[in-house]
Amino acid sequence: MDTFIYNAAPGRVIFASGALERVGDEIERLGCKRALILSTPFQKPDAERLAEHLGNLGAGVFAEAAMHTPVDVTKRAMAAFEAAGADCVVALGGGSTIGLGKAIAWRNDTPQLVVSTTYAGSEVTDILGQTEGGRKTTLRDPKIRPEVVIYDPNLTLGLPVAMSVASGLNAMAHAVEGLYAPDANPVTSLMAVEGLRALQSALPIIVRMPEDIDARAEALYGAWLCGIVLGSVAMSLHHKLCHTLGGGFDLPHAETHAILLPHTAAYNETAARERLAPAAALFGGDLGGGLHDFAAGMGAPLSLKHLGLKAEEIERAAEMATQNPYANPREVTRDGILELLTHAHSGKRPTAS
Ligand code: NAD
Repeated sequence: MDTFIYNAAPGRVIFASGALERVGDEIERLGCKRALILSTPFQKPDAERLAEHLGNLGAGVFAEAAMHTPVDVTKRAMAAFEAAGADCVVALGGGSTIGLGKAIAWRNDTPQLVVSTTYAGSEVTDILGQTEGGRKTTLRDPKIRPEVVIYDPNLTLGLPVAMSVASGLNAMAHAVEGLYAPDANPVTSLMAVEGLRALQSALPIIVRMPEDIDARAEALYGAWLCGIVLGSVAMSLHHKLCHTLGGGFDLPHAETHAILLPHTAAYNETAARERLAPAAALFGGDLGGGLHDFAAGMGAPLSLKHLGLKAEEIERAAEMATQNPYANPREVTRDGILELLTHAHSGKRPTAS
């Protein structure tokens, strides 16, 4: 067995249908008295209902969370936090809202409670990506990891099918990269494989029956495990490419992950065959091709063209993605990435090389 270092991350997780009811108890358990509720504009009605339900424990609602955590939004949220006399935040939503809560906590170390409503996994990581002046930067700090996470599958029943599929594939990408991470360990690898299994089982059911609560619970459970992997070990080619395309070409987060995953898995499959074997076994032995078929079968977007990336932008993307070296099972070359992106642009079924 390889040697390894295992760091267990702190954090309290409550997983139950109806767990939203427990937010008040958890605020008090943190020793707090006034929570600022955060959401996107779209989920503002849900945030307002929660604030009303919390009564005196609610300090108000700030519903301006946006993708990639713009710093100007964070500044307004900090002002709202101060003005409301808040002593903690409750982030109700997906990665965008959770990012805003993390950005506040990174600045003032306020306790964070997250009610996670997508499968992105941000709620269990110490990673914060922020954008300012069109540039996205990422940082890690123990202060960033939320203290309490509530998973209530009921809140995911209304997550649209297309978003559920893309978000679920986003979670699966954390697990695939976690398996070949340079600092992988037996615990994160167990979680990665179980996370992949749960999402592989649940997502096709959600496509057919979006209100199947058992499938919703299984997907959320899988997303939690994949999120822990993301927060525990280093990510490689796949996440770097998604970061480049999201930050540099303004492509949507979850869909970009969903489209690239089969291609990045195929790129690394031969170089990391042994580590990827348990994942490949779930997808018929050919991980890249199997993931492509899995995504296609659920009607997921398959081509970067579909997201609006122009053919003439591929070269610049490959250039940007190969500027800074990082650990990856297979050498990251400009030609290799150019070919990968060309296939992902057209939606071609990948083959391991
Ligand atoms: P999102 O949070 O942007 O949500 C997309 C839309 O879906 C929003 O309008 C949101 O309000 C809505 N929504 C969320 N849950 C819903 C539900 N249950 N029902 C109906 N609508 C719902 O999407 P996301 O993919 O979860 O997050 C993407 C962001 O998260 C990106 O900025 C990404 O960089 C970040 N992220 C960060 C990490 C990390 O560890 N730092 C990890 C993953 C993602």
